[in-house]
Amino acid sequence: MENILNYDEAELKQWMDENGEKPFRAKQFYDWIYKGVFDFDDMKNLSQKTMEKLKKNFYIGIPSVVRKLNSKKGDTVKFLFSYNDGNIIECVVMKYDYGNSICISTQVGCRMGCSFCASTIGGRVRDLTSGEILAQILKAQDEIGERISNIVLMGSGEPLDNYHNVIKFIRVVNSEKGLNIGQRHITLSTCGIVPKIYDLMREDLQITLAISLHASDDETRKKIMPVANKYSISEILEVCRKYSDVTGRRITFEYSLVKGVNDDKESAKKLGELLSGMLCHVNLIPVNTVNETSYEKPESFKVKKFCDTLLKYKIESTIRKEMGADINAACGQLRRNYIEESEGK
Ligand code: SAH
Repeated sequence: MENILNYDEAELKQWMDENGEKPFRAKQFYDWIYKGVFDFDDMKNLSQKTMEKLKKNFYIGIPSVVRKLNSKKGDTVKFLFSYNDGNIIECVVMKYDYGNSICISTQVGCRMGCSFCASTIGGRVRDLTSGEILAQILKAQDEIGERISNIVLMGSGEPLDNYHNVIKFIRVVNSEKGLNIGQRHITLSTCGIVPKIYDLMREDLQITLAISLHASDDETRKKIMPVANKYSISEILEVCRKYSDVTGRRITFEYSLVKGVNDDKESAKKLGELLSGMLCHVNLIPVNTVNETSYEKPESFKVKKFCDTLLKYKIESTIRKEMGADINAACGQLRRNYIEESEGK
């Protein structure tokens, strides 16, 4: 049996046609899905015959909720979702004045090995399919009873290490027939797989590209991100300049500040020099301590100083607002804790 959500509407139309069904049944099916109806039996305008045929061939791959945690302030909801093979991922909804934003996962686990990140402990288990990525949003909307208008691909996994599924997902979620979420409301975050960023640039998409830079020199970057052994900062910046030339989009650079590793004035100056004159924005993230690591966040005055130094180079930065710290909302921590609990650690 296949997950029907991996078929976009055009593919499902074709399937209907090839299987003796009217192509418009595909639209009927997706109309129900986008209304939050996730059971074939409740799709009232599908004929009995169509329904039986669909049930014989497909299942609707909506994950079930293993855990749902609301932050005390009520601005963050974190989900642990389980797919039908038992694999668990996490996703977070953040409620802002301008709408609801969701942080979704693209892989079960991750193989990039960044030393501060909980998602990578245990490696990559498998890629998520386009339908499974979409289903996180469908399920989360259903759970919170509100529309989601912004997507960040910043959950577990490296989106560009699961390229085709991620691109298919973006096209589906952006299409008028789908959830119709504007490309400018979608951010893809990558640790910097340079050739794949070139591929992305050629997709003719208007999404925001976020780069996990986390260091302003290759030596420091190599200490915390194995991917830095493959691609240098200068190669990353080159492709970023091209990306913003081609798409007209401002690049976001993420910089997780780790006490004693990359938070000093010299690093800030170097970052300022590197990015000076670029169409970009820096997102400073005081590192979230993961149980398995000894990394600590810098004192807040140091974070502020880093921000001020960048400003001298006319580079704007924001310090990421900490939301949902009380519910383990950071980067793969909840799944990690759940796994450790299940293993009785
Ligand atoms: N693989 C993608 C997206 C996933 S993580 C990427 O590397 O960009 C989203 C962001 O959170 C990345 O910038 C990542 O480096 C950062 N991150 C991961 N763990 C973190 C932690 N413990 N503290 C602060 N930032 C973290």
